[in-house]
Amino acid sequence: MAPEQLAHVLSPLQVGPVTLKNRIVSSAHLTHFARDHLPSDRHVYYYREKARGGLGLIVMEASAVHPTSAQFPTVVFAFDERVIPWYQRIAEAVHEEEAPVLAQLWHCGHHAAWNTTRQPLLAPSDVPCLYYRETPKIMEHEDIRTVVEAFRQSARNVRDGGLDGVEINGAHSYLLAQFMSPATNRRDDEYGGSLENRLRFALEVMEATREGLGDDRVLGIRLSADELIPAGYSLNEGVEIARRLVAGGRLDYLSVSVGVYPTLFMVMPPMAIPPGYQVYAADRVRQSLRQAGSHLPVSTVGRIKDVRMADKIVESGQADLVCMTRATIADPFLPKKAALGQLEDIRPCIACNQGCVGNAGRERHITCTVNAAAGYEETRGDGALAPAERRKRVAVIGGGPGGMEAARVAALRGHEVVLFEKGPELGGQVNIHARAPMRGEFKEITDYLARQMNKLGVDVRLNTEASEGDVLSLDADAVVVATGSVPGRSLDSPFRPAAVAESSEVLTMWEVLLEQREVGQRVLVVDEEGHHPAMNVAEFLADKGKSVEVITSLQHVANQLLLNLETPLLMTRLLSKGVALTPYTVVSGVNGRTVTLTGVAGGVERRVEVDTIVAVTGRRPVDDLYFALKGKVPELHRVGDCLAPRYTDQAIHEGHSVGRAV
Ligand code: SF4
Repeated sequence: MAPEQLAHVLSPLQVGPVTLKNRIVSSAHLTHFARDHLPSDRHVYYYREKARGGLGLIVMEASAVHPTSAQFPTVVFAFDERVIPWYQRIAEAVHEEEAPVLAQLWHCGHHAAWNTTRQPLLAPSDVPCLYYRETPKIMEHEDIRTVVEAFRQSARNVRDGGLDGVEINGAHSYLLAQFMSPATNRRDDEYGGSLENRLRFALEVMEATREGLGDDRVLGIRLSADELIPAGYSLNEGVEIARRLVAGGRLDYLSVSVGVYPTLFMVMPPMAIPPGYQVYAADRVRQSLRQAGSHLPVSTVGRIKDVRMADKIVESGQADLVCMTRATIADPFLPKKAALGQLEDIRPCIACNQGCVGNAGRERHITCTVNAAAGYEETRGDGALAPAERRKRVAVIGGGPGGMEAARVAALRGHEVVLFEKGPELGGQVNIHARAPMRGEFKEITDYLARQMNKLGVDVRLNTEASEGDVLSLDADAVVVATGSVPGRSLDSPFRPAAVAESSEVLTMWEVLLEQREVGQRVLVVDEEGHHPAMNVAEFLADKGKSVEVITSLQHVANQLLLNLETPLLMTRLLSKGVALTPYTVVSGVNGRTVTLTGVAGGVERRVEVDTIVAVTGRRPVDDLYFALKGKVPELHRVGDCLAPRYTDQAIHEGHSVGRAV
């Protein structure tokens, strides 16, 4: 697509005192890069990379305005003057790349943790957070004044740090939103009850923040225009809230999102939710503001990954700015590539929520499943890929994501690369998993890698199983073994052996998804991974009308998926399709069609009649070729599952490392 066809999203926009070069925004997202409540070098490189990629506006992660907002030990303290030199470093690095950068100021209210704050949590009422269940202190008037002043002080620090402005977080059921929402504000004083009262705190915060920041900086606010819970406010009230905030504050833009903690899966949704699902909210807010005579820029968000969709949103007047946040974690150079018309080269976000929020939710620093440089920009970012000193002949064995990434990076560095794939197509296990309901988008990453390998001239040999002799006859300087893994059929759990022989009667999930084996009507899925695969195979079978029960020895089904992001939709679908989900249970015996199930710690025993058992109980590395070649080739590497069976994240990360190392 020619860049002129993206003219709307790539056009400049004036936001307060700052001119953005385009409408593509990276919205605030927690990174867990902070140390001692201060930004780190990792932040500097991370935001600089986004600026180099051509983003129109970068909003840094939510930073606490007060110690009572320390949700995690890795939250940046914007109120602490030690933050100023860090802001200066970030501002300098980002401004050098000609992008503006804002701090997001935030108080998380009842979502904080006493464990971190060592103070009672603050909230408008004694409503605990849905997830952490810690009852907060009801804010007294002096607490309100303290937090308002904390916003003012933090805004001064932002200004002294040379950043371009502040976005106030008034969304996603954090403190400002806790005051706005009838679900969390049960006060009967001037800060509760009527909408006017519920907005009083937000308006006071906006005023103090503007005063601390000054008029020559950008001030925006983020708002959930639709809380998506029955006890909260709906879009109609959200639109009215937006109008009143805009009328009452000296704002330069409004960032419109939806959802609160109980509906967090609608804030950072998985691939089951279609791209652009939040645009309706920004559209309604923007229309209402325009009717009221306001021309304030409005931004939208929500899994928008395709720059053509972003362009349409701007063209149709649904929003003025488009947050493409995960899309630019997956590829920070999306805006530059779009401007050059290189849409095929944009590495797609697949909404897997594994590397980014999957890690953030576990208080680990963010990465990206598909972008091995995310979080490692200092050593892997733009300009850090050195051309090979000597062009080598590199053989890659295996066309899954790890092998493909190794081939791509090695070829980018100038090596001559040949890749052998024993199957008829590239993609490896991704092709199997993408057959499951709502998981098809996974394939976009291997399609991208295939396109890039093709462009780089990698010699891909499909339907070619490379033997030891084949590899040795190539006389390659370096060999990368990426031969993957195979699933087992064991019914054992680490807690209790099943006391049954491994049997070919037990199906693997691959055989089921590839429809290679017949599946009976009553199916028992035995899961020891706690990740997507068992859930996916259960849904796949339920969709075919099978009666399915999933058992696991883990403390709850799918315990590796984030409770607030991945499981709500998944569980809702599985339960509505009649899938039984049984935790803390193992197979203790199989006798024909009768399976005995027992609690992990013994106790309750149950017998069920099943026609088919599907095991999702672990995989074994396919590493024969690696060991056969060991000591016989000048350079030998292995990546991904053939090293240890794990996930796409590790395969791509290791493939990337080897591509740089050969
Ligand atoms: Fe997108 Fe997955 Fe990367 Fe997150 S980890 S940015 S969801 S591809």
